[in-house]
Amino acid sequence: MSRNNAAETAKIEVWWDMNDCTIPEGYDARRVRSGIERAFEKLGYSGPVSITAYGDQKKTPCHVLRGLSSTGVAVAHTNSDSTRSVMYRDMVGWRDQNPPPATMMIISNQVEGDLTWDLARLQQRTKYDLFLAYSIKSSDDLLLVCYANWRWEQLLEEEGGTPPLVTCRLSSAAMFYCKSCNLDCQSLEKFRKHLSSYKHGLEEAINPPDTQLFCVTKAWARTYPATPEHATAKIHVLWDMNDCPIPEGYDARRVRPSIERAVKEIGYTGPVSITAFADQKETPDHHLLALSSTGVDFAHTLFWVKYSRMITEFEEWTEDNPAPATIMIISDEVASSQYLSSLICRKLQESNYNCFLAYSVRPFEMPILLTSAEWLWDSLLAVSETKRHLLHKCCSRSESVVESSGMFYCLLCICDCESLDDFKKHLSSKEHIHEVGYSPKTKRVREDNNDFLNTKVTFAVQSAVKSGYNNKNILTLVHIKERDKNYTKYSKA
Ligand SMILES: [Zn+2]
Ligand SMILES: [Zn+2]
Repeated sequence: MSRNNAAETAKIEVWWDMNDCTIPEGYDARRVRSGIERAFEKLGYSGPVSITAYGDQKKTPCHVLRGLSSTGVAVAHTNSDSTRSVMYRDMVGWRDQNPPPATMMIISNQVEGDLTWDLARLQQRTKYDLFLAYSIKSSDDLLLVCYANWRWEQLLEEEGGTPPLVTCRLSSAAMFYCKSCNLDCQSLEKFRKHLSSYKHGLEEAINPPDTQLFCVTKAWARTYPATPEHATAKIHVLWDMNDCPIPEGYDARRVRPSIERAVKEIGYTGPVSITAFADQKETPDHHLLALSSTGVDFAHTLFWVKYSRMITEFEEWTEDNPAPATIMIISDEVASSQYLSSLICRKLQESNYNCFLAYSVRPFEMPILLTSAEWLWDSLLAVSETKRHLLHKCCSRSESVVESSGMFYCLLCICDCESLDDFKKHLSSKEHIHEVGYSPKTKRVREDNNDFLNTKVTFAVQSAVKSGYNNKNILTLVHIKERDKNYTKYSKA
């Protein structure tokens, strides 16, 4: 992954859940800061580190509070049930006040679920270098892009040598906060007195902090005007023709002008390339020819590998087309499934790509992909109809072009054809049939191996993530997993 050089000297903010990642019995609390700093130094990050320790501080021994405070670690009291939501609220507030470059580190076991969903969306718009530490690893960590993650114990073991001497500068900087009463103070004695006061008890009893995590991006709009850098950049469209088919009686030559018109209406004028994904046998010839005549590429694929092929093409496209650029996905499945969109989601967190979505049915849940525009497929196709004069121009232009400009791809064999005849010849060739067919002999073995494979793949993906995000490897593994999962479904049907 490309490292953000400016972030390496920028400030590092750490949110630490002391309930999840506790200080072990007998461990000197003054060594926590140096452990964290050393881990960052090893990765080349040398910016100033601010740490806030969250938890029920009534339960934290006095010497631990003093040790943390003396090394400049701020201490925040929350009741245990609301630690996660309070920490996240502070994180969001900090992001508002501290534009990148900067680094965020979360020490918690509870990053998955709505926190990952919201933070991954925030990161797609505003990117920070993100680091994680945990004592128990969460299972769905493929959605959020982290530069590194550590086991909590590993951080504490970082050879800290002798605890640093208490300096006046640091001890004066470390604050104590009561998040329940919105109070801060600089003296440990005052803080402890406050936590045992009647006033504090009453406040926590009648006005307890929210335990529910507030997802800030839920309220965000789905469509935004084009930013200058994206307005003229390339737009690549991945179109799943099964989810979003060409309606009966609709002229397939109108698909391209409709898409172009729709993006133009919100300020995007960059060149548009479109690849349609479907099984050739299920696509009428007149659609294939019409799409080709308007420069839409057709990629033959079978339904149980369709999504992995779409995602592979997305990956390949991003390699050739660095950001800023826009990816548009026309698919119900990719829009609604976190699993299918996880690689795209990761890429959007890493690079300055824009994302558009179109679907035949609005997803039940808001997609994890942060979009700059969303359309319903039917209304998108109707765009050219409402601009009839423009359509005439587009159609007459495409009709006058004799040779086809759209390509035909067989994604199963990685074979490109310029004409429909050649394409069909390929699809009935020995080479193609060999590539597609799983022989009945291997079919049974595949089913038997399915559970084993899934476990193995999940593990391999996790290891791949741990050892530096080799997207190609992960992708291959995801392919295997998806193919086998769908193959089982297919063969049982
Ligand atoms: Zn209080
Ligand atoms: Zn083929």
